[in-house]
Amino acid sequence: KRQIDFDAIRKDFPVLERTVKGNPLVYLDNAASSQMPRQVADRIDYYHRHEHANVHRGIHTLSQEGTDFYEETRKKTRDLINARHGHEIIYTCGTTDSINLVAQSYGRTFFEEGQKIVVSEIEHHANIVPWQMVAEDTGASLAVIPVNDRGELIWEAYLDLLDEDVAMVAIGHVSNALGTVHPVKEVIEEAHKYDIPVLVDGAQAVPHSPIDVQDLDADFYAFSAHKMCGPTGFGILYGKEQYLNEMPPYRGGGDMIDKVSFEETTFNKLPHKFEAGTPPIAAGIGFGAAIDYLTDIGMEHIAHHEQELLAYATEQLEVIEGLRIVGTAKDKASVISFVFDDIHASDIGTILDQQGIAVRTGHHCAQPTMRRFNIPATARASISFYNNRNDIDRLAEGIKQAKKFF
Ligand code: PMP
Repeated sequence: KRQIDFDAIRKDFPVLERTVKGNPLVYLDNAASSQMPRQVADRIDYYHRHEHANVHRGIHTLSQEGTDFYEETRKKTRDLINARHGHEIIYTCGTTDSINLVAQSYGRTFFEEGQKIVVSEIEHHANIVPWQMVAEDTGASLAVIPVNDRGELIWEAYLDLLDEDVAMVAIGHVSNALGTVHPVKEVIEEAHKYDIPVLVDGAQAVPHSPIDVQDLDADFYAFSAHKMCGPTGFGILYGKEQYLNEMPPYRGGGDMIDKVSFEETTFNKLPHKFEAGTPPIAAGIGFGAAIDYLTDIGMEHIAHHEQELLAYATEQLEVIEGLRIVGTAKDKASVISFVFDDIHASDIGTILDQQGIAVRTGHHCAQPTMRRFNIPATARASISFYNNRNDIDRLAEGIKQAKKFF
C-alpha cells in the first residue's frame, strides 16, 4: 500500500505558512471552506494570464482550447463520483445552487398538493429552504426525520414517513454541524421501494471520502468546489439522465438553447440545457485541477488520515472539563462541534483566534439542529487532510486557555 507523507503535503498550501495574531495559523474551519493548494491556484492563474476566452461558441483556438479544458472537468468529476455519463454532471455555482435547481425545476414540475418532501432534522439551510419555497407554491409540505441524542437518524421514524405521497427525499450525506454520516445508501434503498427520488447533499462528503453515486443509487447528488481545494463559485449537480431529461430548464439564456425564435424556443441537450450564459470558466478549470490534486493523494488515503485525526481530536477534547461534544454518532466525518455550559461559543472562537486558531462558531446554517439540541450555537473544529496532530494539540491547549479566561 502506498504511503502518503501528509506532512510534506502541507507544503503545497502557502496559507499554512502564515501567522495570525503572531502565532502560526491552525486552520480548522474546513467545513466552511477548505484551503487551496498552489497547484490549483497556479492553474487558475495560468488560465487568466494565457488562456482566457469564452467557451462553447468560438471557432478560434483560444475558445476551443478553453472549451476542452472546461469540459475536461466534467470527465474528471464523472470519474471522481463514478457517474455513468458525463452529461449527468451539471455545472452549477455550488451545492446551494444545485439544490435550488432541482427544487425549482423538478419540484415545480412534479410536486403536487398534499405531497411530502422528506428531510432530516439536521440539514443545512441549503437543503431546507429551497424545498420550503417550492412547497409553498405547489401545496406540498416538509416532513422531518428526527434524530436521536447522538445526532443519528431515527430509522423507524424514517420508515414511518415513507409512503406514496412522498415526492422527494432530500438528505445530507454528512452533517456540517455535527459530523454525522447518514446511511444514505439504505435511505435511498428504502425510498426507491416507493419510487421516490432521493437528493443527497454531499457538500461535506465528497471532500472527505470516495463517493460512488451508482453504488449509492442516488438520483441527485450535490456538492461544492470550494470545500475540496477548489475555488468558490463552482459546484456540481449529478442527476440521473432519466430525471434530468424529464426536467425543464431552470434558467434561460445563451448556451442552453437549440433554436430560438419569438414564437418558440427549443432547448439544448444535456448537460447544456441547465447551463445558461457564460459559465465560471476559470473556476471550472480550477476545479479540474483540484480533482487531480485530491485523486493524486487518493480519497481513501484522505479518509483514513482524517478518521485517525478525528479520533485523536475527540480523545483530546472530551477530557477537557466542562466541554461537551454535540453529535456523537457512531459514524462521523471530520467535524467536532462542542459547547460549554458557562462559556459562549463565540467567546471560545474569539480567544482561539487570538492564538491563531481558526474554528467556526454559531448555528452553522443549521438552526433546526441547534434547536434539537437546545443550544444557541456550538464551536466547531473541522478537519482536512492537511491538518495534523500538532493542530489538534494547539486546539486543545487553546480551549484550555479560553477556559482560564472565563
Ligand atoms: N450543505 C452542507 C452540508 C454544507 O456544509 C454547505 C456549506 N456550508 C452547503 C450545503 C452549502 O454549500 P454552498 O454554500 O457551497 O452552496
